[in-house]
Amino acid sequence: MGRKRHVNIPVFIPHMGCPHACIFCDQKRISGSFRSQTPEKVSKLLEESFSTISSEDHVEIAFFGGSFTGIPEVEMISYLEAAKPYIDEGRAKGIRLSTRPDTIDDRVLSILHDYGVKVIELGVQSLDPAVLLKSQRGHSVEDVMKACALVREYGIDLGIQTMLGLPGDSLDKSMETAKGVIKLDPDMVRIYPALVLKGTLMEEHYLNGLYKPLDLDEAIEWCARILPLYKSAGITVLRIGLQGSESLEDSIVAGPYHPAFGELVESRMLLKKMTARLDKIKFSGNTRLIIRTLPELVSKLVGQNRKNIEQLKEKYRLKKIDVLANLDHGEFSFEFKKD
Ligand code: SF4
Repeated sequence: MGRKRHVNIPVFIPHMGCPHACIFCDQKRISGSFRSQTPEKVSKLLEESFSTISSEDHVEIAFFGGSFTGIPEVEMISYLEAAKPYIDEGRAKGIRLSTRPDTIDDRVLSILHDYGVKVIELGVQSLDPAVLLKSQRGHSVEDVMKACALVREYGIDLGIQTMLGLPGDSLDKSMETAKGVIKLDPDMVRIYPALVLKGTLMEEHYLNGLYKPLDLDEAIEWCARILPLYKSAGITVLRIGLQGSESLEDSIVAGPYHPAFGELVESRMLLKKMTARLDKIKFSGNTRLIIRTLPELVSKLVGQNRKNIEQLKEKYRLKKIDVLANLDHGEFSFEFKKD
């Protein structure tokens, strides 16, 4: 018997329930879904999707790309009704959705709970009041605190989405945000460096010189400092960097986008760890360093275009570095040879 696959059926609800557009956001382009949504279309989409899914799969219906709980109640319920037959029959294990912190209250949570919502991902973006204000989020840090506590009370899993490099942001503020998010004890987080997308107010600000996005190297560095905070707190990081798509790539005006962003961050983290260890070791020039690592870590450890290896070689004046994929546990080990 094959292993159970986890399948999310994405139902995009671009900008639905949003009171306004946040300065950086164009969900139509991010999701690639330009059509407006209706409960009838959702029923049809689910019918088609379930006809191709094995009953063995662990399936969740995922409403993304808008503020689900900001949709007027009757309409919001009609979307939940479209999903209900699949939940009742056990063909879907639950619903997950994304929303804004200021559209969560007891009433809406009790409705979501009754319809089988298992995960709520809150767009938090930053826990710095000035960053929230400059990004025109329209909600406060207090709203985030209240929403997270309420989601927890209803036994629904909590996801938190944060962004790095928004207007007014700094590395310190982003690190403080990550520490604050950890205190909220989410089950999962997503980290997105801010990109300048066509048609957003942030594009205007960028073109007028009022906003400067992080460059790719800065974004990698910020993430490489923030990710270990979540890892050591045991919080799952579902994603770092927006998922690449043609629609998104067409829409990027500026900012730290790379299709393999997460891999670049992991690679930088390994470089930091190797540097921290080498800093403590005394060795003279003309030394050959042998790094042993796990086969699956070789490309991250070496870095794109051997960037990590070249940096280590230069920094420690090493004669040569050989990387061997023959470690069976841990991340890497060093051996020094005097030739
Ligand atoms: S960031 Fe979220 S709340 Fe703001 S416009 Fe986009 S989907 Fe709506």
